[in-house]
Amino acid sequence: MLVVQKYGGTSVETPEKILKIAEKVAHDYENGNKIVVVVSAMGKTTNYLINLLYQVNPDANSREYDMIASTGEQVSIALMAAALSRFGKKSVSLTGFQAGIDTDSTYSRATLKRVYRGKLVSLIDDGIIPVVAGFQGISPSGDITTLGRGGSDTTAVAVAYGIGADLCEIYTDVDGVYSADPRYVDKPKKIDRISYDEMIEMAAHGAKVLHLRSVELARRYHVKLVVKHAHMNSQGTIIEEAGQLEEPLVRALTVDESIVKIVIKDVPDVPGIAAKTFKQLSDRRVSLDMIVQSMHRDGKNDIAFTVSKEEFKDALDAIDHVKTEINASDIHSDDTVAKISIVGVNIIGSAEIVYNMFDALSSIGVNIDMISTSNSRISCIIKREKIREAAKAVAERFGLEE
Ligand code: ADP
Ligand code: ASP
Ligand code: MG
Repeated sequence: MLVVQKYGGTSVETPEKILKIAEKVAHDYENGNKIVVVVSAMGKTTNYLINLLYQVNPDANSREYDMIASTGEQVSIALMAAALSRFGKKSVSLTGFQAGIDTDSTYSRATLKRVYRGKLVSLIDDGIIPVVAGFQGISPSGDITTLGRGGSDTTAVAVAYGIGADLCEIYTDVDGVYSADPRYVDKPKKIDRISYDEMIEMAAHGAKVLHLRSVELARRYHVKLVVKHAHMNSQGTIIEEAGQLEEPLVRALTVDESIVKIVIKDVPDVPGIAAKTFKQLSDRRVSLDMIVQSMHRDGKNDIAFTVSKEEFKDALDAIDHVKTEINASDIHSDDTVAKISIVGVNIIGSAEIVYNMFDALSSIGVNIDMISTSNSRISCIIKREKIREAAKAVAERFGLEE
């Protein structure tokens, strides 16, 4: 088989762990597989690097952010290739540029354009194991770009698609996808198989076990995706096409604490206000989550929406730009909120599920600030200080624990 194996930060945080993984890769290679390895930066290296940049300049521009943030992966690829040669395997480390990974020029959250297969395929054909730096690519002007935090998963799926791999394996510090983040719920259930659609909803709403765009890419290009533990033997979780239509079912809950709510106060209730506002956000490529417009008296509305903390600065800049034009009386931001979601099949079609979600939260005195739904998800914005309690109550209500 031709396999892409991606190893995340915690899986390669020490030289010992890198050697262990190299031994496993060498073993898989000897068993007849052709392998491309994709690695993340060691442990919390990326946080350290970004922190370093902001110590020098809290307003450093995103080109320099990408320049420094991408270096963590460069350390990992050299170590992994060197470790592989200790196990008698020919290996070559490649930066995103060297591997032929093209992106657009949106620094810090670049979109992948294409992966050239030539270089990787000729290395593989020569019996070499390429080790590719995750999370990074190259813009049309030749600058280094990064794909957003957690983006190495997306590199792995893109490489798998680019070279026509049979399988993309994401190795991490959990043995698969669970019914809840193990950091919030004590005994979540392991999920053996999950659809791309459900996984996309989970990733979009806080389950950072997979980078959202990696699952979107995998769905679009039919890349077979598996999540597994890097240092333990396990079946892992297979992410695949949805099966037959099923009865309404709650499969998992997700929690997202890294969001900020922005409220634009007292804008006129006339056509065009929302369009003007969101044009600015669109120009800056800010991804939006919930959007709520609340009616006021006297022909005025409030518009509220949430964005990720990472994109907060850009979002605020966008709103500041349009504030006078849309006649807003004030802009208010709130970073004391968090989001809890349930994800599954045909959720919104079941009033019982909707009721149980709201009742689980109200039973522990949690007030719901905003609500958004899709066919397979309900999300509620609540006070961040209540999020752990809420996760436990929702897990219990929907039987998401062992
Ligand atoms: P890596 O460094 O390997 O990319 P991440 O930290 O990005 O690893 O992702 C793995 C983490 O995702 C786990 O340690 C776990 O805390 C978290 N996580 C969140 N939601 C889930 C979930 N539903 N199932 C499994 N892990 C989850
Ligand atoms: N090293 C990057 C990060 O910490 C990318 C990744 O780990 O996937 O976000
Ligand atoms: Mg990750």
